[in-house]
This record gives sequence, C-alpha cells and structure tokens, in this order.
Amino acid sequence: MSEAREAKATCCYCGVGCGVIVQTDGAQVVGVRGDPEHPANFGRLCTKGSTLHLTADPVLQQQARALFPEMRLMRDGRRERASWDAVMDHLVQRFAETISLYGPDSVAFYISGQLLTEDYYVFNKLAKGLIGTNNIDTNSRLCMSSAVAGYKQTLGADAPPACYEDIDHADVIFIAGSNTAYAHPILYRRIEDARKNNPDLKVIVADPRRTDTAREADLFLPILPGTDVALFNGMLHICLWEDLIDVAYIEAHTEGFAELKRTVRDYTPKYVADTCGISEDDLLTAARWFGASKASLSLYCQGLNQSASGTAKNAALINLHLATHQIGKPGAGPFSLTGQPNAMGGREVGGLANLLSAHRDMGNPEHRAEVARLWGVDEVPSKPGKTAVEMFEAIRAGDIKIVWIACTNPAQSLPDQKLVREALKHAELVIVQEAYKTTATVDYADVLLPATTWSEKEGTVTNSERRITRFKPALSKPGEARHDWEIAVEFARRLEIAMENAATIFPYATVEEIWNEHRETTRGRDLDITGLSYAILEEQGPQQWPFPEGATAGRKRLYEDGIFPTASGRAKFVNTVYQPVAEPVDARYPFRLTTGRLRDQWHGMSRSGTVAQLFAHASEPSVALSQTDMERRAIRNGDLVHVTSRRGSQILPAIASDDMRAGQAFIGMHWGEEYVSGRGHEGSGTCGVNALTSPALDPSSKQPELKHAAVKVLKAELP
Ligand code: SF4
Repeated sequence: MSEAREAKATCCYCGVGCGVIVQTDGAQVVGVRGDPEHPANFGRLCTKGSTLHLTADPVLQQQARALFPEMRLMRDGRRERASWDAVMDHLVQRFAETISLYGPDSVAFYISGQLLTEDYYVFNKLAKGLIGTNNIDTNSRLCMSSAVAGYKQTLGADAPPACYEDIDHADVIFIAGSNTAYAHPILYRRIEDARKNNPDLKVIVADPRRTDTAREADLFLPILPGTDVALFNGMLHICLWEDLIDVAYIEAHTEGFAELKRTVRDYTPKYVADTCGISEDDLLTAARWFGASKASLSLYCQGLNQSASGTAKNAALINLHLATHQIGKPGAGPFSLTGQPNAMGGREVGGLANLLSAHRDMGNPEHRAEVARLWGVDEVPSKPGKTAVEMFEAIRAGDIKIVWIACTNPAQSLPDQKLVREALKHAELVIVQEAYKTTATVDYADVLLPATTWSEKEGTVTNSERRITRFKPALSKPGEARHDWEIAVEFARRLEIAMENAATIFPYATVEEIWNEHRETTRGRDLDITGLSYAILEEQGPQQWPFPEGATAGRKRLYEDGIFPTASGRAKFVNTVYQPVAEPVDARYPFRLTTGRLRDQWHGMSRSGTVAQLFAHASEPSVALSQTDMERRAIRNGDLVHVTSRRGSQILPAIASDDMRAGQAFIGMHWGEEYVSGRGHEGSGTCGVNALTSPALDPSSKQPELKHAAVKVLKAELP
C-alpha cells in the first residue's frame, strides 16, 4: 500500500460500534473521522474514537507492538525471536503430548470480545470441534454473561430486543447500572438529543454513585451496591398495586407470573426503600413513571452484570418489562449494552465454555449433534468447559497444563489477581497471541504470537443493537504479525496432521469463507443471517440480525408479535429473590468498593494509554471517597491511603467526591501494574484494582462480582 486512501472500519473500543473512516498515507494511519453513514453514530465520535489514529503512531508501533514470534524453551530462560514455523512446530508438539498424556481438558483457550467474529469462530471450532474440549472462554464472561443468562431464562434467546432508534421513541429511559455518559458516550449523546426533542422524556438512573449520567437524570436512585433485584421487584410491587401492569399481555404472552406475584408481595415500598437506601417517594415515582409511560426503555450494563446475582438482576428487570408490556414496541424494551466491540459476535458463534454456535446450548444433545454435523466432526464434547475464573483456578490447581490467551490481559482484568498470577506461573505452557507486547500477561508468555489489530484486520463485528459491520484492512500487517484467524487456522491444520486426521475441517483461504460457514450455522435459529453476505454488508452497509434468506432488511426490534423463542412461545417470568452481595462489609472491612470505567480510558490501557491527551481527564489512579469519610479519617485530598481487601492491597491517592455516599469507595478499572506515587510509596505488590476484587461468581452466568468488594481504607504514613 503506497497511496493515500480511506477505509471504513468500526471503532475498536466500546460496544456502541461507531463507524469510522480511517485515513492512511498508504504506510500509516494519519487520521480518523466518524462515518456519517454508519447507523450507530452518524459521524460522531467520542474522545477515544476520535484519537484512534494516534494509537497507530509509527514510533509507538515499534515500541509497543509485538512484531515477531518469540518463545522460550527453558522455563526460566528469556523469550527469543523465532520463526513462525519453529513456533508452530513447538506448539503442535506440546499440545499433542499434553493431550495424549492428560486428555483434551488439560488445555484451554482464553479469548476476547475484541476479536472479530471470524477469529472467534475458528478458535471455538479448534477447541470444541478438533481438540474436543469445551475449555474455551472469553473476557466477555466478565462483562455480559449475566445478560446472556437473563435473556435466555426470560425471553428464550440471547437477543437484545431493542435498538438504538428506540431511544428516540421512548417516554421513559431507565438507566440501571450503567454510566452511559462515560462507557457508551455516543449513545448517551443520542439520549441528550432525545431529551431536546421530547421535553416530556423522563430519564431515571439507578446507580450507587452519582455519576455524570446520574447527575443529568430527572430522577436519581442512589441504591446501595447489589440491591438492584430489590429495586426492580419493589417497582413491580407498586405497579401491581397501582394497576400499571398489562394483565391481557401477561395472560396472552407469558407464563409464571402467579409465582412471581406472590414473591413481590413482600417487596413493600418501605422494605425496598430501606434495603436500597433510597426514599419511598423516589421509589414510587420511578415505578409510576416506568409503568404508566407509553414506552419505557431500560439501558443496563456492568452494574447489573458484574455481580454474584447478575442473572437475577437481569431477569428481575426483564420481569418488570414483561409485566407492564414495555417490550416489543417502539421505544420500549430491556436493552443490555455490551461493553466490548464484539462481545455480541462472540455470543453469536458460541465462543464461551457453555455455549455452541448460533446460540445453541452445550447441554442440549440435539444442539451438539447439529453442530458436529455442521463442522464435520464425530461429536462435540458434552462436559461443560471451565469459565474464565474457573479456568485460572484449574490452571492453578494443575488440572489445565496449557493455556492459549488471545487478545486479552487476564493478568490485569480478572478478579483476585494473586491467584491469577500464581496460575500463570504454574501453567506448563502459556501462549499469548497479542498485538501489544506491553500487557502484564505478556510477561508470563512462554510463546508470544504477534497478531494484527485495529485498521489492519478484515472481518465483521456485531454491536449492542445486533448490527453487523464488515470492514477491510486499511494497512498491511506490520512486521511478521498475522491475523488472529490465520494463526488459529495454521495451528489447527498442523494439529490435524499430528492427529492423523484424513481431511481438514479448516479449509479456509479467506476470512469470508469462515464467515460463510458461520452464516450457515445460523439457518433457522433466532439470529438467522442466511440472507446476508459480505457483498450485501459492503453495498448496503451494516445490518441487524435476524436477516434470514429472502429478507430485504434486518429486524429493528424483536417480539413485536408477542411470540418468544421458548418451547411454549411465551416469555417466562423468573421468580427473582433479592440476595445481598457475596462479601458484605463488616467491622474489619467497612467500605463498599465499586469499580468502573473512566471517561477517556479503555480496559487495561494497552491502546488508550498510548495517547497523551487521554490522560487529561484522569492522569493517575485514585480512590474516590465521600467527604464525610475523608474528614472522619483526617484524610486530605491527594493523601495516600492503603485500600485493602481480604485478597490484596493498593496504595492510592484519595480524592474527595460528592458522588459517593459515606462508606463507599470507587476505583477506576484501568491501571494495572504497581502504581508509583513519586512520593516514596509504591503499591505493595499490587496489580490494579483487581488485586482487591472478589472471585465470587453468579451461579448461572459464572460472571464474577467485580462491582463489589469489602475493603478497609487507612491513611498511609509518610516515610
Ligand atoms: Fe468508540 Fe464507543 Fe466512543 Fe463510539 S462511543 S467512538 S464505539 S468508544
């Protein structure tokens, strides 16, 4: 490539999935602008998206990018540059030996919601179809598996029923557990526009912190962490009393309401207000606005999902929508927002330990047989694989010997970092497939496989509203980096030879061939995309699923006919009961720690941390505390404090914040390795906020409770 050109892509940060136009001079990215034709953003970009080109700076590429394969043959030796051939031979030999000695469940893959759908598809087929293990999970387990479980339990399929356009039609927008202004900024601008266009629109925000999103709300419910189920059940209780439920809809299109009705009788306004720490008046107002509105749309994210009762929180909110018939019509619906750019694509191909292609279930023998037939293999294993946290526990226990990590940084992002890092040290072989060699996880890699990244890749992603975007590379591959799907396919073919398989099940020469095979797996399923092709996506632009054969457009919103993809065709109420957080505060650990995203950073900052101007909003990590707690402990703004949980400790500057209740603490999720204060203090063996967080899991979704841990906060003594 040697001429200036423009190529369409999507922003590689959040699940809004904004379209971008990448400008290159043929050798490097020189600019980026919003794609005015992309239906997610119509040309707008937030601070992260509009600085994407700066992350592709050539000097940075040399410093931060993984450009050549590396491996170490001695466990304590250094990684040395190696050829792709040598690395692949080594990996195939180690996999074959390990599987032969310990069985297929002795290996595992931990992948990412930042991979493209085609990458995800190949890794999933490699693990479940070729090797015969379901030990493949993704960092999306940390952000949306409770939403998957909530949708499936209630509506029968993992499909967000609403779309971005519903923001324009809503009379009430209920934002629960989402700082949309920071985490999904372009969607939030759409809410701001809707408020300008509809002065009667009411925005309700439920969040333990007075975030920027909460500050602008018409009604803010500052609930105590983890009390969401009580809030939603309480709102339903009020809707029942005030005749705001739709009895005809419940009778015609749902089942299980009688049992839930008995449960929510106990969720009186007084009990709920006391449990959630809000006023009864505000609770009544929220329930009345939500139930009486012509169209209520809920937007929710990690505040619901990252919880030991995340599935129940999702289901309780969906219960509320079903009972009041706030679903299946313009401006209404329970709309879970995805955190990562392609968490949805991973769900579509079944790239999680408990799922199979095209929203099929691992536990369903017919589904396993269908996938085996589609893949051309004898069977797909029935034993559930290890989910993210379980996987690293199994590595630590020695049950999993080899882990292949692609495009994610578990040495920073998983909870209980002490355990995760011990696991990475303990594993017999750690393979890290990465674009950046600067992540904490790369330090543990025995083999480093350099991968392409944003602006270099070709394939598809699906955003929060089920919209698939196809894009092509704007730049050539740097150094010896290869596409993620190419690496997986090359390894799979070599492993097939080692296994003496007669013919390959990975016959792909292009990324489009992978997508076409994925498309065929969706035939007749809720996410059927058999009417789509790469050519249609290119000619007609991004499209929403379902888009079955013969369709001329995707479906904006689901369940408008009141028919749900369950055995009975009816939606199911789940009998949701409030459970307190897994680790309640006590005298030793009296603070409720919550974690979250800051406005201008992304995950572990491997990309956003390379742009100086993105530090203007927050230049260093800190812990936010209420003014009351600061005064009680004689802590001044900027003083260093120890924040300690049962699992680890951090030293951070304390910042007084009006956003916090007394007894709460908040730390941004982005900083990882030891924080050096410049004042003689270093974090004592810290690895970011996840040194503190809890590995407690939701029993259904296996999503960890990253949003709550009990901690103590003590002022640090100066040396
Ligand atoms: Fe990128 Fe999300 Fe910002 Fe859009 S809103 S530009 S997808 S970070």
